[in-house]
Amino acid sequence: SRQFTRPLNDLANQFNTLLSAVAGAERVFEILDESQEEMDETDAAELSAVKGKVVFQDVSFSYEKDEKTVSGLNFSVKEGETVALVGPTGAGKTTIVNLLSRFYESDSGQILIDGHDIKKVKRSSLRSHMGFVLQDSFLFEGTILENIRYGRLNATDEEVVNAAKLANAHSFVQKLPKGYKTILNQEGSGISQGQKQLLSIARAILADPSLLILDEATSSIDTITEMKIQEALQRLMQGRTSFVIAHRLNTIQQADQILVLHDGGILEKGTHDELLKNKKFYHSLYHSQLKQDA
Ligand code: ADP
Repeated sequence: SRQFTRPLNDLANQFNTLLSAVAGAERVFEILDESQEEMDETDAAELSAVKGKVVFQDVSFSYEKDEKTVSGLNFSVKEGETVALVGPTGAGKTTIVNLLSRFYESDSGQILIDGHDIKKVKRSSLRSHMGFVLQDSFLFEGTILENIRYGRLNATDEEVVNAAKLANAHSFVQKLPKGYKTILNQEGSGISQGQKQLLSIARAILADPSLLILDEATSSIDTITEMKIQEALQRLMQGRTSFVIAHRLNTIQQADQILVLHDGGILEKGTHDELLKNKKFYHSLYHSQLKQDA
């Protein structure tokens, strides 16, 4: 097995609940925006152009009252960097991206994007700079064209097709009898798990965000599709600050920074080579993975 964590996460669930509640992307956006505005502070600001520097300053958070889920999180990410979040199930990887995208609010500490405290920014504004490529799903009932266009609702058909090409999705879509007019249901039945990933990459490319949240699929995907996904992800991540909930060793090795999480804290951070030299938790995690994969 190449998995570090369980396949389900809160973030995907939040989107799925929204997406399954309604049919059609525009309605989804309306509902998302309405619920966000209700929760924003009255003087919340718009976040204009984002470069993508992210800082966590002594961030702590708990889902339930008397237990700390994550505590004392300190790290800094330069614009355009890739950060891999690694650690056992329950370590807090999903929680970090939940906090960054403000699906939950930190209890103490600050999260800064380009120096702006995200609590003082409108949620809709924050999320307009974020792209999500999550495990499976994240599709709604509609055509493939509509599903990709959800990334940017005013995109032309040509722009949608271009995004699909960059995401290595165009060739499989073209081969479907109805092409881009193929109707997907919420589970995306009729196309494979890997193809769903390619569609969500196309959607993110179209959205052109500064910040990316990636949660790689853990279910088995054939080698050729897997290579297409990796190539498309590299293209997508180029020049964007990317948080990857990492399940695969190759993605982790290429990261600018690896945060090794354990029990809601950062146990170690550094590049793959630095962490191997440390010979601590990451070192043993890596070698146990190698043995499992052998
Ligand atoms: P990871 O992504 O590393 O597997 P999570 O961030 O999902 O870890 O979880 C961290 C801890 O928070 C775990 O103990 C988990 O059970 C708990 N947790 C996650 N989501 C919730 C939630 N919605 N309510 C209560 N506890 C949660």
